Amino acid sequence: MQIPGHIDPVTTGTVPLRGGNRVDLVGLTREGIRAALEDAGLDAKAAKLRAKQIWHWIYHRGVTEFDAMTDIAKSMRPWLTERFIIGRPTVVTAQVSNDGTRKWLLAAADGQEYEMVFIPDADRGTLCVSSQVGCTLNCRFCHTGTMRLVRNLTAGEIVGQVLLARDALGEWPKGTMAGGADDEEDDAGHYTSDGRMLTNIVMMGMGEPLYNFDEVKGALKIVMDGDGLALSKRRITLSTSGVVPMMARAGEEIGVNLAVSLHAVTKEIRDEIVPLNRKYGIEELLAACAAYPGANNARRITFEYVMLKDKNDSDEDARELVRLIKQYRLPAKVNLIPFNPWPGAPYECSSPERVRAFSNRIFEAGISAPIRTPRGRDIMAACGQLKSAATKVTRAELDRIAEEKQAALG
Ligand code: SAH
Ligand code: SF4
Repeated sequence: MQIPGHIDPVTTGTVPLRGGNRVDLVGLTREGIRAALEDAGLDAKAAKLRAKQIWHWIYHRGVTEFDAMTDIAKSMRPWLTERFIIGRPTVVTAQVSNDGTRKWLLAAADGQEYEMVFIPDADRGTLCVSSQVGCTLNCRFCHTGTMRLVRNLTAGEIVGQVLLARDALGEWPKGTMAGGADDEEDDAGHYTSDGRMLTNIVMMGMGEPLYNFDEVKGALKIVMDGDGLALSKRRITLSTSGVVPMMARAGEEIGVNLAVSLHAVTKEIRDEIVPLNRKYGIEELLAACAAYPGANNARRITFEYVMLKDKNDSDEDARELVRLIKQYRLPAKVNLIPFNPWPGAPYECSSPERVRAFSNRIFEAGISAPIRTPRGRDIMAACGQLKSAATKVTRAELDRIAEEKQAALG
């Protein structure tokens, strides 16, 4: 049966090269950098050595100029500069919330805009990364889902967010690196790589990461690479609205923590608020969670549950949620997200008392169900509020999108 509505991964546009004819090395694998160098004329042995050095400078030291690569012969650096760049997304705006949360609106080389958020906490700093410009999925409570224009971000644009965040937080290691400078003085000071502000990454920005699997995988592989950003897979969480056929691969090939945007426990309500449910239903989704490679009691799956007034927040819903988690024997915790409103949103947030009661019902059954504190609401940086200002749709368009969805639901 043909399923109506925006639930399939439709993307538009092609991605032009940043830096004109020069090749952006950000986002390539080490092997990809080697091949690019060889294509440009280096012999195999030199390409391999230079690729290793360049990788280290890009991902370990955060440099953006070949001139700063002090262990590469001085004469070679202009040759590299002519042919390659180490790109960064363009910062359109950068905002800081009164709670310390930061939001950046970024632009890709083709002008497409996407957002990234940094959330500092006492014991960690979490970067919320986007995987697409917009999202094809139209979850009814999500601002990103109302964006019309969509394209997948490239691995370079995804990893570029992490590089840019480290630039902005000023946390690239300084000083001499072991085995480093061979023909020039390196920066003064000590080399440190600990005490980082950016400790965690969540793929919870704009877009559905499992509808952009290859690029997300490529980016996260780079982020996890030991000679570079070196973030542990335990500190990375991929959030999906339930793209069932890609979940096993995500576990096997990427291996990061999984978060699933469940949000409802009945077909009727989930069909309405997460339209993808009409394609992959709750049972199928939970079975895929039970089979997720690497999930166990030490590494539980997070179920995200947005609290919508009179929609999905009753005690009965809480009981059913517990029953489902137990039925599928899921090593799970539940993250309750108070609904973050945006202009024209068709829902309201449940009352604080209701959220607390819902949380208690789940805790009473022995399942952890913390309530997520909204962060950065004043700068529209909270969950589901991300949407580039440049593509804001009118009220009339919003109504039309809602109507389309209603029609699709029959
Ligand atoms: N597309 C992925 C990841 C991005 S959304 C997914 O849906 O899982 C990250 C989380 O924010 C999801 O759980 C999403 O459902 C939630 N979210 C979206 N809009 C929200 C809103 N207005 N208020 C609170 N949470 C929201
Ligand atoms: Fe897309 Fe996630 Fe928003 Fe749904 S909640 S529209 S899947 S970004």
